Amino acid sequence: MQIENFIDGKFTPPIDGNYLPNLNPANGELNSMIPDSSHDDVNSAVNAAKSAFSNWSKLTINERIDWLRQIADGLEQRKADIARLECEDTGKPISLAERVDAERSITNFSFFADHAKSIADLEFRMDDATNYVIRKPVGVVGLITPWNLPLYLLSWKIAPALVMGNTIIAKPSELTPSTANLLCEVLDSIDFPKGVINIVQGLGSTVGQAIVEHPEIRAISFTGGTETGKIVARTAAPMFKKLSLELGGKNATIILDDVDLASAAKGAARAAFTNSGQVCLCGSRILVADKIYHEFVDLLVEEVEAMKVGNPKHRDTDIGSVISIAHKDKIHSYIDLAKSEGGEILTGSEFTIPPPNANGAFVAPTLIANLNIDSRCAVEEIFGPVATIHRFTTDEEAIRMANITQYGLAGSIWTGDRARGVAVANQIDSGILWVNTWLHRDLRTPFGGVKNSGVGREGGDWSLNFFSELCNICVKDD
Ligand code: NDP
Repeated sequence: MQIENFIDGKFTPPIDGNYLPNLNPANGELNSMIPDSSHDDVNSAVNAAKSAFSNWSKLTINERIDWLRQIADGLEQRKADIARLECEDTGKPISLAERVDAERSITNFSFFADHAKSIADLEFRMDDATNYVIRKPVGVVGLITPWNLPLYLLSWKIAPALVMGNTIIAKPSELTPSTANLLCEVLDSIDFPKGVINIVQGLGSTVGQAIVEHPEIRAISFTGGTETGKIVARTAAPMFKKLSLELGGKNATIILDDVDLASAAKGAARAAFTNSGQVCLCGSRILVADKIYHEFVDLLVEEVEAMKVGNPKHRDTDIGSVISIAHKDKIHSYIDLAKSEGGEILTGSEFTIPPPNANGAFVAPTLIANLNIDSRCAVEEIFGPVATIHRFTTDEEAIRMANITQYGLAGSIWTGDRARGVAVANQIDSGILWVNTWLHRDLRTPFGGVKNSGVGREGGDWSLNFFSELCNICVKDD
C-alpha cells in the first residue's frame, strides 16, 4: 500500500517523489510506503490552509460543531480499522488499540463538539464602560505528534483547533502514519471542506522542522520528547508563535504503608506497563514504603509475570512489541546499564517469541531493584517496559524522591487514607496526579507538565483558549 499526503482535500504524492518504508515492529513486515515529504510539500499545504481559512473561520461555531460530529460518526464506522492499523504500526495489542486508541480518537471529536457549546461569552462591567472578550481563530496552526498514541494524540489537537476556526497542517510520526491517512479517507468521504485539514507525512527533521519554521503558521502544538521540544521552542519562540509543548516524563508511583496491597500492586503494574511503558504518563519509578516493601514487591512481581507478552493480534496478549528494533536496543542498553550499576532484575529477561513474531521488537516487562534513586535508569525517560523500585521510610522522603528528576508530568499515590494521598499529591511537582487510580481522565480538566515536561495545558477550555486569540473590546457608556 502507498500512502500519500492530504493537501487541499486531495491525496497528493510528495513533490520530490520520495517515499519511506513503514514497518510493523512486531514482525518486521512492510505495512506501507509513505511520503518522505519536503519543505515544498509543507509550503503547498500552507497555501491550501491559507485559502481555506477565510471560509472556515467565518462558519458559525454550530456549523463547525456539526462538522466535528460528522467526523466522529465517520471514524466510528471505521473503528475496527483504526484499531487494526494502530496495532500494525505500533505493535501494541489489538485489545488495547480498540479500548484506548480507537475509542478515544472518536471521543476527542465528540467531546470537543459538546464542550465548544459551553463556551461562555465573557463580559466585564466597569462603572462607565463594558468590556467584551471575543475569540478569534489564530489562523493556520501546526500540529506535531508522536508514535505512542497516534490518532488519539492527533485528534486531541485537531478537534479543538478545528472547532475554534483554525486551519491545520499536521505531521504524525513517520513510524505511525496509517491512522492519520484513515482520517483523511473519512474527510474525503464526508466532503469535508478542502484545505482545512492538511496532513504532510515524513520526517521530523524535514517536515516537522519546516512546519515549526514556517512564518505563516501562527501556532505550534507539539507532543513528543523533551529534547525535540527544546528544538521546537528554540525555533518558534523568536517568531512569537503560540506554543504548546507536551513533553516527556519520569513519573513516580508512590505506595504508602497503609494501602490495600493487592489493588496497589495491580494499579502499579498497569501504570508501569500499559502500552509497553510507552505512555508519557506511565509510572516508571515505583516508590514503596519500607514497612510493606517485601510483601508489596512479591505481589507486584506476581502481577507482572501474569502479563502475557506475545503476538499483538492475539486477543489474550497484554504486552505487544515496542515501536522499533532501534527502540528495543535502547531499552536493553538501559537494562544492561542497570545491571552494571548493581541493579537486581526481579523479573524480565531475554525470551523468544514464535513466528511470525520471532524477529519482532519485544521486551519483557522488567522490574529492577537496588538502584540509587538518582541513577540514570531511575531519572532518565526510558519509555519502555522497565520500572525501577525504590524504598522510602517517611512520606516526606517519598515526596523528595518523586521530585528529584528534571520532569514533572504525572504520578500516582496509593493509600488507604484519601486525605493523606491528597496531601502527598499536593507536594509533588507534576501537572497530573492520581490518588488510588491511574490514567483516569476527565477531558475537561487541564492536562500538561511542569519543569521539563512541558509548557501550557491541553484539555477542555485550555485547548479552546490555545487555539483562539482572546481579544478585549472596551466600549465606553454614552
Ligand atoms: P519525538 O520528540 O522524537 O517526536 C515527536 C514528533 O516530533 C514526531 O512527529 C517527530 O517526527 C517530530 N520531530 C522530530 N524532530 C523534529 C523537529 N526538529 N521539528 C519538529 N518536529 C520534529 O518523540 P517520539 O515520537 O519518540 O515520542 C515519544 C516522546 O513523546 C516521549 O518522550 C514521551 O514522553 C512524549 N510524549 C509526551 C506526551 C505528553 O502529553 N506530555 C504524550 C505522549 C508522548 P519523527 O517521528 O519523524 O522523528
